[in-house]
Amino acid sequence: MKKAFITGITGQDGAYLSKFLLEKGYEVHGGVRRISQPETVRLEQVGVLKDVIIHDFDLSEPYNIVRVLQTVAPDEVYNLGAQSFVGSSWDLPVYAADVNGIGVLRILDALRTFAPQTRFYQASTSEMFGLVQAVPQSETTRFYPRSPYGVAKVYGHYITMNYRESFGMHASSGILFNHESPLRGKEFVTRKITLALARLARGGTDTLVLGNLDAKRDWGFAGDYVKGMWMMLQQPEADDYVLATGVTTPIRDFVRFAAEALGMDPVFEGEGVEETATDRKTGKRIVEISEKFFRPAEVDLLIGDPTKARTRLGWQPEVTVRQLAEMMAKSDYDALG
Ligand code: NDP
Ligand code: GDP
Repeated sequence: MKKAFITGITGQDGAYLSKFLLEKGYEVHGGVRRISQPETVRLEQVGVLKDVIIHDFDLSEPYNIVRVLQTVAPDEVYNLGAQSFVGSSWDLPVYAADVNGIGVLRILDALRTFAPQTRFYQASTSEMFGLVQAVPQSETTRFYPRSPYGVAKVYGHYITMNYRESFGMHASSGILFNHESPLRGKEFVTRKITLALARLARGGTDTLVLGNLDAKRDWGFAGDYVKGMWMMLQQPEADDYVLATGVTTPIRDFVRFAAEALGMDPVFEGEGVEETATDRKTGKRIVEISEKFFRPAEVDLLIGDPTKARTRLGWQPEVTVRQLAEMMAKSDYDALG
């Protein structure tokens, strides 16, 4: 039986990856931060909490990392732990650099010292492309990060590549474009949209307040993406791969898809911070804009080219952005019932 260790097991991807690996017959271990009230809700939601083995773990603590990795002795390590919300990274830039950047080095160096044969996956991100230098973005597109989060992830990406090249380690990075699900954090725009619209559809009156509706993202379903992570570690040689759908959608259209899934007929009017959306069927104001949700530097357009993952790994996403919006909106609507 193969053993996997997942950092960030309590997060969205950690939950889906745990389920996926358990179904493949793995013994699954995960690192959980010591906080006053354990947060394992997502592992419960996917029904695997009793099947995974939890260890106290923090990416900022090198000795803890060494001890846990020596105790578990995994065949594969998936480093999903991060301060993952771009918006907060301007408020927590040093923490983002430490956990998302140096945290990767702490794991790689522990593995290099004690278990160099362990296969390693790094959760790199399309946010590294930031102010995009090519359309679509592939493994060879130059990085131009636009947030402390993105800058820290570039370090994590290059140190993974460097340990692969310096020490021959099987260390791969997945450059994953945005992937969402009903388990997505409530501060990310997709989940914020589906949760607020589900409340409105249930009779609530709180208007959804958003920032930049013109930004475009390449959104896929998290369940498809964790499979790609595992596929990377099954290759004879480690490498870097983009996982994306190849379709980009403005935030405004994601609102439209989610609203339509809940039986609304949204009409957008106005421009900039004056823009609003109203449900034509009920006359209810559903969206307003506030400066508060604009970012100091924006990533305007992301669209990935997943050709390498498709041809070398045989990976491809199954869920379209409209199906994703519908899945998330219905899940939030049902949960509120
Ligand atoms: P989540 O925010 O849902 O999960 C992040 C996880 O990291 C949580 O388990 C969190 O623990 C943990 N974590 C945070 N700080 C630390 C720390 N100091 N030590 C150990 N663990 C920590 O993110 P996702 O599941 O969506 O993303 C997984 C990874 O993929 C992240 O690295 C993210 O940056 C990256 N990524 C995600 C994309 C996406 O669209 N989802 C796109 C590209 C990359 P806790 O529960 O205690 O907060
Ligand atoms: P990101 O791509 O990792 O930053 O994922 P997010 O879901 O946090 O943001 C995606 C895009 O939505 C960014 O371009 C944001 O500027 C934009 N956006 C617009 N309004 C909001 C909002 O209210 N919250 C968030 N999180 N993002 C918003």
